[in-house]
Amino acid sequence: MFTLIDLPYKSLAPVISDQTLAFHHGKHLQTYVDNLNKLVAGTEYEGLSLEDIVRKAPAGGVFNNAGQILNHNLYFTQFAPQPSSPAPTGNLAKQIQKQWGSLDAFKAEFEAKGVGLFGSGWVWLQANADGELSIAQYANADNPVTHGLKPLLTFDVWEHAYYLDYQNRRAAHLSALWQIVDWEEIEKRYTK
Ligand code: MN
Repeated sequence: MFTLIDLPYKSLAPVISDQTLAFHHGKHLQTYVDNLNKLVAGTEYEGLSLEDIVRKAPAGGVFNNAGQILNHNLYFTQFAPQPSSPAPTGNLAKQIQKQWGSLDAFKAEFEAKGVGLFGSGWVWLQANADGELSIAQYANADNPVTHGLKPLLTFDVWEHAYYLDYQNRRAAHLSALWQIVDWEEIEKRYTK
């Protein structure tokens, strides 16, 4: 049985309003959890991890719901109301510097790829087995794990993630999200 993750904070306001957080976590994510539990019951996917399901399942309901749970679990646990550091510090900081020249240049490309993703999906920072980074746009429920890569940081560009707070201003939402990114968590994902 899959269950809804607990949030490691009470509020991310004003970057993400309490109302958006409550709907996004308590309604949207809960629905993906409920759907997946119904879909995998009695199938070969019952008892598998979310990662294994997205690696194995073909396009369709099982993949979509498992992918959306995996993506949202990584999304919600990468934020903090008051992050301890405004930037990565360790190996991740060095790798970003090496590949983009500066954190600002990295952020600019990440935001542009989020803004430029047509329709619903996710923009990701991902790493390969050699620790090389890339920014990817994935549609709908797709994610780095499906492609054999390590997921590090993601911005949800489905409209449910921002419409109550920012309406059509996706760019303004994405640019505000940097204020709550917990770089300590992203660094942990990179080095583990
Ligand atoms: Mn979402």
